[in-house]
Amino acid sequence: MSTTALHGKSFIGKEPSAEGRRSFLATNPATGATLEPHFREASLGEANRALSLAERAFTELRCRPPAERAAFLDRIADEILELGDALIERAVEETGLPSARIQGERARTVGQLRMFANLIREGSWVDARIDHAAPERKPAPKPDVRRMLVSIGPVIVFGASNFPLAFSVAGGDTASALAAGNPVIVKAHRAHPGTGELVARAILQAAEKTDMPDGVFSFLHGAGSELGAHLVRHPAAKAVAFTGSLSGGRALFDMAASRPEPIPVYAEMSSVNPVFVLPGALKARADELAAGLHQSVTLGVGQFCTNPGLLVGLKSDEWSLLTTRLKDLISSTSPGTMLHVGIREGYEAGTRNLASVSGVSVAARSSLAADAARTQAQAMLFTAEASTFLEKRELSEEIFGPSTLLLTCGSRAELESIARNLHGHLTATVQGTAQDLLEYAELVRILETKVGRLLFNGYPTGVEVCPSMHHGGPYPATSYSHFTSVGTAAILRFTRPLCYQGFPEEALPPELRDSNERGIWRLVDGQFGR
Ligand code: NAP
Repeated sequence: MSTTALHGKSFIGKEPSAEGRRSFLATNPATGATLEPHFREASLGEANRALSLAERAFTELRCRPPAERAAFLDRIADEILELGDALIERAVEETGLPSARIQGERARTVGQLRMFANLIREGSWVDARIDHAAPERKPAPKPDVRRMLVSIGPVIVFGASNFPLAFSVAGGDTASALAAGNPVIVKAHRAHPGTGELVARAILQAAEKTDMPDGVFSFLHGAGSELGAHLVRHPAAKAVAFTGSLSGGRALFDMAASRPEPIPVYAEMSSVNPVFVLPGALKARADELAAGLHQSVTLGVGQFCTNPGLLVGLKSDEWSLLTTRLKDLISSTSPGTMLHVGIREGYEAGTRNLASVSGVSVAARSSLAADAARTQAQAMLFTAEASTFLEKRELSEEIFGPSTLLLTCGSRAELESIARNLHGHLTATVQGTAQDLLEYAELVRILETKVGRLLFNGYPTGVEVCPSMHHGGPYPATSYSHFTSVGTAAILRFTRPLCYQGFPEEALPPELRDSNERGIWRLVDGQFGR
């Protein structure tokens, strides 16, 4: 398929549709050039149709065997690959990200779809629990009680700007919601609408080839404040997935909570990902740490939710050496193209505000000027004393882009105090030696209460997609710290437990029958087994 085939319409179920009056063009952030075609914003009537179709599709989908949903997910992966270079080229044009990055992201997206297909084919994820009846129990008989996780209904997915494939139309949110047995309606991100349309077509092709009900997937263009809000408030919507700004995520969360029937909004929003550099590590490898931190801060022009925006260390010659080295590296970093003008403006405003705080210094910035016409931003290093951070809460706010704030502490107590004053983050990192870990055990104890993922001698950027990954964290990192948006556990967001009491074997879902015909892992009368 070539990108010239893009039509700029939404998909209401399998049908292309363009009833709205407003339209917009995508922009290539690297050149400022607009990209054809015009994308027509969906009307609220089209949104209503997508939701009614999804409601109808849900009644059918929830009764289909998991193997059918797995085949659908695998087929989506195949269809995405079949889009070939057209997808890569359009995504590069719309995001300014390098082709190699987009290719890597496509591999991750396809991998995630296949991972969820395998998960539901195997089946143990439903967390089946069976407690057999004991009619002779005294003083009261024990009933037969069985429970498992089931699907919930239509899920609204807001595509993220910073992962145009892996967290967008067929990204982890869509894959996990479909895997759980829910129809999905995507509110496309306006920064990559053509990429979105190509992927939406791949999903719909897959739906047709695997005989999924119409309405299992819809894809809508439009403004968040109008279309997005309407989708979230619609009574047929049962959950929302979002990755983006704190203001956007929080607005959607509040909207969903104030519905007559509140629904969950799984929002990943804002995280500074502090890195604590302990004395033993500094003594052993200050240079290497500076290089690693620089790489992590500037990777992808800093546009990762796990970007390390706060570096904390104790005053020492080695900390001064690391600071000097980092200054040199930041100065020699070329300005990079950001994903869209709004993100660049947010970065400019955030760094300007931080620079204006008394006690904060701009220690270094890219020596080359940023070209606004190419949506570029300079890398920046800020420095401050720990006491300034403790006095001024605004220093804790995320600045989305290639900058970091380096804090110098006068004592271990001050370093622990920084940790104690952190709000919730996705990650925290400790760089140290085994001896450091013993001496700074209290720091680790504090950080355990602040984040979803603790790293030792690593860098927070780069999130492995695997069953044990947790990509979440206390507010404001996410709206529900007990759920992840990466890894197989992401499916749990779009399910609820359903308990059957006293049902005969033949009337139960296969997962809860004594025969365990699917051979899944279950907790039967308190014992795990197949
Ligand atoms: P965004 O502005 O939060 O938008 C994300 C999506 O949510 C868009 O589809 C947007 O729709 C919608 N939306 C935003 N506010 C809304 C509201 N009040 N009501 C309904 N829908 C709303 O994120 P972005 O455009 O990707 O980037 C902007 C900033 O978000 C960045 O500068 C960065 O600070 C942050 N961000 C954080 C992460 C992270 O991983 N933590 C990732 C990406 C971005 P419209 O665009 O149509 O309004």
